[in-house]
Amino acid sequence: MNWQIQQILRRRRGAETGAIPAGCGGALSVCLVYPNHYAVAMSSLGFQTVYKLFNDQPDLVCERAFLPDRDELDAYLKSGDTLVSLENERPLSDFDLVAFSISFEPDFVNIPRILKLARIPSCAADRTGADPLVIAGGAAFLINPEPAAEFFDLIAFGEGEALIPPLAALCVQHVAASREMLLQELGRLAGSYLPAAGHDTAVQRITAPAAAPPACSVLLTDETEFGNMFLVEVSRGCPRGCRFCAAGFVYQPFRQQPLELLKAAVLEGLQHRKTIGLVGAAVSDHRSIEALCNFIVEQDGSPSLSSLRVDRLTPHMLELLAKSGHRTISLAPEGGSQRMRDLIRKNLTADQILDAAEAVARAGILNLRLYFIIGLPGENDQDLEELVKLTAAIKERVVEQARRHKRLGEITLSVNPFIPKPFTPLQWAGMCPLEELKRKVAWLEKRIRPLANLRLKVEDLHGCVLQALLSRGGRELTPLLLQMAEGLNLRKAAKLCGIDVEACVTRIYAPDEKLVWEVAPVADRERLLTEYQAAMKQLPEEQTP
Ligand code: SF4
Repeated sequence: MNWQIQQILRRRRGAETGAIPAGCGGALSVCLVYPNHYAVAMSSLGFQTVYKLFNDQPDLVCERAFLPDRDELDAYLKSGDTLVSLENERPLSDFDLVAFSISFEPDFVNIPRILKLARIPSCAADRTGADPLVIAGGAAFLINPEPAAEFFDLIAFGEGEALIPPLAALCVQHVAASREMLLQELGRLAGSYLPAAGHDTAVQRITAPAAAPPACSVLLTDETEFGNMFLVEVSRGCPRGCRFCAAGFVYQPFRQQPLELLKAAVLEGLQHRKTIGLVGAAVSDHRSIEALCNFIVEQDGSPSLSSLRVDRLTPHMLELLAKSGHRTISLAPEGGSQRMRDLIRKNLTADQILDAAEAVARAGILNLRLYFIIGLPGENDQDLEELVKLTAAIKERVVEQARRHKRLGEITLSVNPFIPKPFTPLQWAGMCPLEELKRKVAWLEKRIRPLANLRLKVEDLHGCVLQALLSRGGRELTPLLLQMAEGLNLRKAAKLCGIDVEACVTRIYAPDEKLVWEVAPVADRERLLTEYQAAMKQLPEEQTP
């Protein structure tokens, strides 16, 4: 194999801890693939958890592979080498099972790229008994598996803790069986979806057993964004049900880990890292979050929370975060105007947001990151005007506190366009057209730029359109993904495949339509619809669909 690839793999192995020892073997060989670069994968607690779950099964060894970085990819292409696993540098095509763990829809584009590098046919229909079984699971499939469905022999719907043990046991038991027979057996498991067979009947979503311990970092390396942290999952799902947010509807019910188990995980983590990254969609909603942060600080550690609910901030919590070195706190008002916050059911008033920002600054944390969504259904310039006013008022409160602390901070406005996500109440709504989004962004830039200490950060709009397309599309997108994997951009690939991207992402669905992503429906479609109708009631009659 090319020496440059070997060097990269050797360096990665040398810089990480927690991987299975080289040379390990078992009856069944699994290669777990993250369809993005190593540095991205290693910050994914979900990916790490699946790695551990596979390796905890008897008679099985699981290795890992990733989308190669630029220089690594060049080396693969120049040498003609086939993609290999990190642990034992084994070609992916030699494994019994190649399992993709996919969290984000835009990574669908990388699936055929990886399979091509691994010399495994991209589409399941083209594989033979000589190829490994290619399966997939992960959050992106809980939202919509269809655009990528044809790449896989099997898709597993649900949470790894419940899916992997029976799946692995069956694969070990039938390791010598033909591909067809193994697939037939696997297809009988709860949560299994065989894309080749279609989906006449709904597939069941599988939830982790109630007693599953908290997921924690298994692999530690500095070559990743959260390299300085030991990650601990404190809760799964979210009880709030904001109408745009998949996390609140796809992972149900809301589950909180017991404090005692979390403390044990923290003690383990502090042996490796000083900072404990608390993971979950609704970390600050955990019933014992303050006690947990207290415990971490008492142990000389530092808790890190990705974002805090505006209405869950307490002076003590902020004091703890300030004491443990937090310089920035993220708050997510999401809606700039009360009308938009009510539409998405954020349940926050401007006063609550202002008080929270002031409390954060009073605690000495003077950098704020504020998350807003633009392009929500029915949004107009008056809503944007209110977003700017709210931001200016937040800034005033923060500056007042900054004077007391004799330090200046910075406020970052992180603006994301609304993407109608499957299995949320706003799944029936359409995305705002790209040109209109560009106009809104330009309008905001003009208004925000003159304000000192305010920074506007806008998510890449074209990337968001791709995400929306892959969230809402069906199997007609398979050829488009194949073209993009060959290097075409979205516009060119869509033109070649005859796909009207704008029409797909902006389309408003009728409530009685069968939606392409309803392969494994969430429990309560009626509830989603009631919430959608309640959201639309916030709009004037001429704007309701
Ligand atoms: S936006 Fe946040 S609070 Fe709302 S449902 Fe999603 S995770 Fe929960």
